[in-house]
Amino acid sequence: MLQLRMMLGPRAKRSPARSRTTNSSITLSGERLLYRLFHERGVRVFQSQPIQDVCRCSTERVASMLRQFTPQERADMVGDNGKIGVTCEFCSTHREFDPAEFD
Ligand SMILES: [Zn+2]
Repeated sequence: MLQLRMMLGPRAKRSPARSRTTNSSITLSGERLLYRLFHERGVRVFQSQPIQDVCRCSTERVASMLRQFTPQERADMVGDNGKIGVTCEFCSTHREFDPAEFD
């Protein structure tokens, strides 16, 4: 089985110890590797683009989501501290809302 490990910039460089154990002794540029694997189908390499690890959640977005629920449903979400706590599953940001702000 062929295992590929593409180097994609800063993130990939963070774990040099691991790449040392999993990489073979042959070093190929990404372009060269793509050509070797897929040249029969035609390979086109586009300009690289920087990527960012960003979540688009915001307090206002979460609040507007909470407004979609009925007052009873919101009341059921209130925790022991009297607040509605919401944790974004993408970026783990935790926000707390006073249930009174939705009345
Ligand atoms: Zn988020």
